[in-house]
Amino acid sequence: MENNEDLTLDPENWETMRELGHQMVDDLIDYWKSIREQKIWKPIPEEVKEFFDTPLPEKGQDPTKIYEEFKQYIFPYNKGNVHPRFFAWIQGTGTPLGSFADLLASGMNPNTTIGEHSAMYVDRQVINWCKELMNYPSDASGILVSGGSMANITALTVARNSFGDQQIRASGLRDVENRLVLYCSTETHSCIDKAAEIIGLGAKAVRKIPVNDSYEMRPELLVEQIEKDLKSGYSPFAIVGTSGTVNTGAIDPLEELNQIAKKYKLWFHIDGAYGALAKLDPRYSSRLKAIEEADSLAFDLHKWLYVPYEVGCTLIRDAKKHRAAFAITPNYLIQEKRGLSGGLDSINHYGFELSRGFKALKVWMSLKEHGRAKYARLITQNNNQAKYLAKLVQQHTELELTAPVSMSITCFRMIREGGDEASLRELNREILLQLQEQGIASPSSTILQGRYTLRIANVNHRTRKEDMDLLVNEVLRIGHEILKK
Ligand SMILES: *Cc1c(COP(=O)(O)O)cnc(C)c1O
Repeated sequence: MENNEDLTLDPENWETMRELGHQMVDDLIDYWKSIREQKIWKPIPEEVKEFFDTPLPEKGQDPTKIYEEFKQYIFPYNKGNVHPRFFAWIQGTGTPLGSFADLLASGMNPNTTIGEHSAMYVDRQVINWCKELMNYPSDASGILVSGGSMANITALTVARNSFGDQQIRASGLRDVENRLVLYCSTETHSCIDKAAEIIGLGAKAVRKIPVNDSYEMRPELLVEQIEKDLKSGYSPFAIVGTSGTVNTGAIDPLEELNQIAKKYKLWFHIDGAYGALAKLDPRYSSRLKAIEEADSLAFDLHKWLYVPYEVGCTLIRDAKKHRAAFAITPNYLIQEKRGLSGGLDSINHYGFELSRGFKALKVWMSLKEHGRAKYARLITQNNNQAKYLAKLVQQHTELELTAPVSMSITCFRMIREGGDEASLRELNREILLQLQEQGIASPSSTILQGRYTLRIANVNHRTRKEDMDLLVNEVLRIGHEILKK
């Protein structure tokens, strides 16, 4: 290399890079357009896995060649949640414009945390739109984070730091006289346990209140536990209600939980990572009214708003408490009244992360492209599809619904006369694996009251009613084949 040549990572040939970029967009469009005709998933061959064992490259290689490797080793073995029959866990589908927004966002590459630049205003507008979606107070604060887990720990950190005389930020929990405890149900997502561990409460501080047959928290047992804890010298500080549990989509009795929180002066947080957006389905608006009253709310936009990974949102009713929980200004982050470091309040005053990508852009473009009304129709459609699937299940004597359908999750299994739990478990597990391995559909599984069950969680804007017919037929076909052997 010549001594006077300055290095850069920019392409040697801009026109080749332009062509490559166009090719990538073309390939993606073809992929999305034909996704319904493709297998939802295929096993990764050994030689493909071995390809990922190659050591760190010492020298660079041609981008066109790297893209060929992507097309050979990565693209064909995708997870499948872009496919119309992906129903595993709770995973969103993404949209073309949402993906292109991500490309634009990373092309602009603004670190969206501090300063006077357009991304900060887009981020703020998206938070305002999130409040509107939830009918949450307009003077509340909020922050976009990577997902539901981060949204929940952000809210619980504010709840913890707001406890009592607010000395917890300075002293940690050692000066808190009585041990802090929080309440949620046995169906609550595991990220609440993790959050409790990380914010110093410890997993034992999470009181898991039993649920009823519909998997909803039993408020009378909640009150009992709070009273018991008060008598035993604990400090109850928060109740976590769930809007759409991860197992079955159950909704805790949010209004009652809110009343109990008010009575005992506890922070009321709602984990709506999956199901807060059901609020857009008019049939749920009254049951989810309490979302508007909660002290904080966590919800995912990469689940039921179908925005590409990753993006979740925390909303905090009391903006002052939110800021007081996180704000810190070292010398290198001082804001000015003018210039690049002027502008809106720095976003790192509202969460743990300092560097943040421009994830707001994909939400902003998506909400503009489709508008609230269309999302409301789609969420309603997913709920209807879940109910339709439940109806199909109930029409077959060989199928059994294993939980009430609350939102867009349907749990069922194949049964047969005289089959004990262990054999039904084997049968349904094999059905699940073959559905996936044959590339037909991707449900996941769970265990409900000891019963192994198929779990169809639908936050998929590509799903049609006919996919539910196909799924039921294929479950029966595979099931019969297994039983014949
Ligand atoms: C998905 C989910 C979470 C976790 O959210 P991530 O985006 O996966 O971090 C938490 N709670 C509930 C109810 C969920 O469905």
